[in-house]
Amino acid sequence: MPEPVKGPRIIAVANQKGGVGKTTTTINLATALAAVKQKVLIIDLDPQGNASTGLGVDRNNRRLDTYRVVIGGVSLKDAVQATSVPGLDIVPAGMDLSGAELELVNMEEREHQLKKAIGDGADGYDYVLIDCPPALGLLTLNALIAAQAILVPLQCEFFALEGLSHLLKTVERVQNVFNPGLEIQGIVLTMYDKRNKLSDQVAADVREYFGDKVYKTVIPRNVRVSEAPSYGRPVLMYDMKCAGSQAYLHLAGEVLRREGHVSV
Ligand code: ADP
Ligand code: MG
Repeated sequence: MPEPVKGPRIIAVANQKGGVGKTTTTINLATALAAVKQKVLIIDLDPQGNASTGLGVDRNNRRLDTYRVVIGGVSLKDAVQATSVPGLDIVPAGMDLSGAELELVNMEEREHQLKKAIGDGADGYDYVLIDCPPALGLLTLNALIAAQAILVPLQCEFFALEGLSHLLKTVERVQNVFNPGLEIQGIVLTMYDKRNKLSDQVAADVREYFGDKVYKTVIPRNVRVSEAPSYGRPVLMYDMKCAGSQAYLHLAGEVLRREGHVSV
């Protein structure tokens, strides 16, 4: 008998604040997971489409995009595109996705559209990472209901904790009402600047409140990380030796260990 196909582990990369490193983390964590032979799919759920651009998907090549999958009845499989990273595919986000938030409002089961759209269409992938938009609207809600876990990038800055408690209240609500199995995979500190005392203080506070939910790996502020997207590449394929690349490789190791992979 053939082995049953294992469904993927679906992780939403979310934080309602913009510019905290969601997209950067999605792209580079996905690439690092693919580098250790995991088959990974990114679903770009942000109308800005930065994950798609950062992985070199041309704007003219996004006709079958997340919008069509969530609203338009196109199957996930038909919208999947390969990227230049072996083992990493993407469903890109096109301009239309910016209308989805409003269109969802009037749909039946509006919170469940992404979950339904994924269905068993992602079987065969080990991981699906959903790059969420910077808001706690219906798109992010759809991601939190489709996912089994949330991964939160947190920038080491003054208001970080305030935003985080609001996000975690939303996670609790989703657990209570829609998705009791939703786990917090972890919180990753991003854009850490060791010369900045505030960075240190925020990192210490976050660790005090959230203990081992916070990954040991900290992503440093690193100019190579911010340069890579303009070449349509993950930083790991732009400068593998830089501190940012190494940090994302470590993060992937921690994520896999939390998922029960013992050999990494
Ligand atoms: P979000 O998706 O949460 O809005 P991004 O991942 O797009 O955030 O990051 C915001 C900006 O910060 C981008 O210009 C990105 O290139 C830059 N950036 C993210 N992480 C780093 C880092 N570790 N070092 C330097 N720049 C970074
Ligand atoms: Mg983004």
